[in-house]
Amino acid sequence: MSTVQISDVRVVVFDLDDTLYPERSFAFSGFDAVAHWLQERMDCPMDPAARMRELFDTHDRSHVFDTLLAELGCDRPKQMVKDMICVYRTHKPLIKLYDDADRILSRLAGRFHLAVISDGPANVQQNKIDALGLQQRIDRIVLTDIWGPTFWKPHPRAYLEIERIWDYRDSSCLYIADNAEKDFKAPLKLGWQTIQIRRPDGVYAHTIATTGSEPHQVITTLDQVNLTSR
Ligand SMILES: [Mg+2]
Repeated sequence: MSTVQISDVRVVVFDLDDTLYPERSFAFSGFDAVAHWLQERMDCPMDPAARMRELFDTHDRSHVFDTLLAELGCDRPKQMVKDMICVYRTHKPLIKLYDDADRILSRLAGRFHLAVISDGPANVQQNKIDALGLQQRIDRIVLTDIWGPTFWKPHPRAYLEIERIWDYRDSSCLYIADNAEKDFKAPLKLGWQTIQIRRPDGVYAHTIATTGSEPHQVITTLDQVNLTSR
């Protein structure tokens, strides 16, 4: 395993989904909650959670609930889908950190300022943070959605907020994330160091960065990151 050596970093910022834990496991945890809710309301000849997991792996991932209800012959799918989305988004997820994420947070604790920048509905992201116990391990968690969807990545506001908190800029700050389409534009403009993690099971592992927003380094496990501070 080749290591990526980066020097002069003071602030290490992580993305959340598919960087610190598998996003897929959140979806599957949500499907379990939705299946439980559904089975209390209608007869399901098949295991609805298993069917939703299957549908998640098709190209039609965004219509899992609609497709399931159509297969179950539901006569009022519109309201049901609304309710299912609500159950999915508010459930307390059963998820855990990737092993290498657990290790890097332990390795860096006390040596660097640690932060998370994450998009997505704030209450959903907060439930994930709680389930992963990140409040105890990360100094600052910035959920872009608290300012509204306009400020989701690639908007620079969250990165500027991190610079403001510790008064470090440029290459003193490092962002580690998985989605090359949106994660690196803003930090690159600000002169941060950037690393893309491409996990084989990651939803965005194969995204391609637009020209000019390619990350400095690409890794497949966080164990490759070797940092030194000033
Ligand atoms: Mg991500």
